[in-house]
Amino acid sequence: MLKLDFHPSGRHFLQIPGPSPVPDRILRAMSLPTIDHRGPEFGALGRELLTKVQKVFKTEHPVIIYPASGTGAWEAALANTLSPGDCVLMFETGHFATLWQKMARRLGLEPEFIGLPGYEGWRHGVQAEMIEARLKEDGDHAIKAVCVVHNETSTGVTSDIASVRRAIDAAGHPALLIVDTISGLASADYRHDEWGVDVTVSGSQKGLMLPPGISFNALSPKAIKVSREAKLPKSFWAWDEILEANQNGYWPYTPSTNLLYGLNEALDMLLEEGLEHVFARHQRWAAGVRCAVDAWGLEIQCQTPELYSPVLTGVVLPEGVDADVVRKIIYERFDLSLGMGLGKAKGKMFRIGHLGDCNDLTLIATLGGCEAGMKLAGVPLAGSGVTAALEYFAEHPLDGTRDPKA
Ligand SMILES: *Cc1c(COP(=O)(O)O)cnc(C)c1O
Repeated sequence: MLKLDFHPSGRHFLQIPGPSPVPDRILRAMSLPTIDHRGPEFGALGRELLTKVQKVFKTEHPVIIYPASGTGAWEAALANTLSPGDCVLMFETGHFATLWQKMARRLGLEPEFIGLPGYEGWRHGVQAEMIEARLKEDGDHAIKAVCVVHNETSTGVTSDIASVRRAIDAAGHPALLIVDTISGLASADYRHDEWGVDVTVSGSQKGLMLPPGISFNALSPKAIKVSREAKLPKSFWAWDEILEANQNGYWPYTPSTNLLYGLNEALDMLLEEGLEHVFARHQRWAAGVRCAVDAWGLEIQCQTPELYSPVLTGVVLPEGVDADVVRKIIYERFDLSLGMGLGKAKGKMFRIGHLGDCNDLTLIATLGGCEAGMKLAGVPLAGSGVTAALEYFAEHPLDGTRDPKA
């Protein structure tokens, strides 16, 4: 039976890589009364939001907002740009890339799933030269889109999206570039226009610090043009009617009004702080967490240091240890949720989310829960990760931190 009477004291530690902790300021904004989504106040909110949200994607082109989880926005990106039987080139970086590929097949597309052999693709990012080589072979341009995941949430490995753009251009290929940054947006640097992305897919419950329930497609002029000819069936997801209604700040159907209040607040918070500061804060947290993993003597899932995710860290447990058993102990003893190993990584690792409404001390507590739980589970540790992370954070103050001597 579901235990609804489990109410431990203090705050739950939600340290999975999405949903991430939601700041009180956003929760309060969402608690305002729901208003008429056809009224003038709503139109003003919609217009403001649709402009502000472009800044987070670093785009001057339209951003579509759906009342759906990230998976819906994945489907929308494919359904608006492609036709039945179209070949799409997708790169295996982990579990989310695998699920997206499965979706493409279910939608009646012909995904070609390339990647490094075996499990290697789950420890390194997208290999742009493999994409370039494949596109060069595709002389008659059968491949209509290249789909890649920017921040692979199942592994904690990012991918260099600019390098994928360069690969497509070097092959002289007209394929669209479609990118999933569902867990990267507003935590890891992302540049829709500069990187020449045609459709960027994102979601609310990760770097944007919102509850689950809204998701995004950022568009390019080329994507909008292609969408007029694309033949996959679509209605709810169709960009054309949404773009038209959005001109006045409205949607063709009832939007998630209260989540949009939350989005408005989240965008204010991010833009007041400055995106570059937000990214630096995440990089620093990730570095502190990696110091802890090193001190434990454990391996990090990501094997390419330039691609370490600022959003989460995958911690590989020694051979023979079931990571899910360790996670269960940590959850039950310390009320701390960690991400599980997904797909090919199941049981091999756990994932620490360091995104959203965190700070040094919530992360120290998180690492404390991991360390104590691993000890309880009998995992041999080389040293104290908590101490190592504390030292890292103390020695690397972030600009904008209050100066104790001032
Ligand atoms: C979370 C996530 C998804 C799925 O989004 P949902 O909101 O769960 O539908 C897809 N891709 C990546 C990279 C994700 O992190």
